[in-house]
Amino acid sequence: MRESSPMNAGDGTYSYTKNSTVQRDGASGVKDAIKEALMENFDIEKMLGGSTIFTIADLGCSVGPNTVSAMESLLETVEHKCRQQGLEDLEFQVLFNDQIGNDFNTLFAALPQPRSYFSAAVPGSFYSRLFPCSSVHMAYSSFAIHWLSKVPEELQRKDSPAWNAGRIHYSDDSPEAVLEAYTNQFQRDMEAFFGARAQEIAPGGVMVMVVPGVPDGVVTYSGGVAFRFLEFILSDMVKEGVIEQEQVDLFNIPNVYPCVKDLRRLVERNGCFEIVKMEFGEVVVGKVEPENGIMLIRAVFEGCMANHFGAVVINQLFVRAMQHKLQFAAILNSAGIQGTAISQIMVVLKRI
Ligand code: SAH
Repeated sequence: MRESSPMNAGDGTYSYTKNSTVQRDGASGVKDAIKEALMENFDIEKMLGGSTIFTIADLGCSVGPNTVSAMESLLETVEHKCRQQGLEDLEFQVLFNDQIGNDFNTLFAALPQPRSYFSAAVPGSFYSRLFPCSSVHMAYSSFAIHWLSKVPEELQRKDSPAWNAGRIHYSDDSPEAVLEAYTNQFQRDMEAFFGARAQEIAPGGVMVMVVPGVPDGVVTYSGGVAFRFLEFILSDMVKEGVIEQEQVDLFNIPNVYPCVKDLRRLVERNGCFEIVKMEFGEVVVGKVEPENGIMLIRAVFEGCMANHFGAVVINQLFVRAMQHKLQFAAILNSAGIQGTAISQIMVVLKRI
């Protein structure tokens, strides 16, 4: 698997569109703090540099509806700030970015009509250049940069100390080499990410990010219990001969959940952005019932799992997951997770 797979397409039962309220609530939980940081720290006239077109890009927008409300909320703040600065007659443009395989058709069909902005899709990986130099005034990305550009190779080599047999992700009891493989890949990816954005974001421009993450000094992501649950189902499927153990050994989820310290270091290493705000927080998202949790896991991870195991096997896996929903609830309980909060880092950067 070279690239992470997009979220489930369309707007049907298993789609991201229908199963992404946790991400929606996570992002809206920090909306006001973002607004405040934008109102206080940015000068629209300066970042426009004479242009009359204000450009926002959403990196890893997926299918919706979260991207639509996030873009509207940011535009509202920008328009407010424009009025405050006496700027009139600006035109707004939203560039929706995601991987080539993303279901842009569903997204564009669901954009509100009429709307106050022009829109365009920019397909491609955000780990490379996507936009012309200094052409973006505000870049946004929520629940996306924890997706690595690829599975770290060491995890898939049997002779490597990072061979992650039986596991599909990492936690605090993982071997050091496994943690290092994930961390190194995240560093390489973030270097590429900030490198590309530094060229694309205009001087004085903004980068806003909401990243699922952990408190400083913690390794295991609270939502990582989902991976434990999937490992448990996969191991049952091995026992019953549906899949081979080696297929499980070779599979790893390409996600890293960073802490503020990690992210801060990476931004500083890039050197082109000032950190206006970077905070870890637990945002209340309301009670998530076990079956809704499983639907969310399916909407997010079905694509990348089906790439490796095949669609039929993964359909079966999620049917089994639903049959074991009480076990999932027990795993959540024993991890002290009641499905009521999401751990995330909110970041506001200014292009120097
Ligand atoms: N921002 C939305 C969607 C998050 S889902 C929200 O907050 O709800 C994560 C999205 O990131 C997916 O659609 C996935 O395809 C995208 N993504 C992952 N890696 C990417 C990459 N390298 N380049 C562009 N998009 C990527």
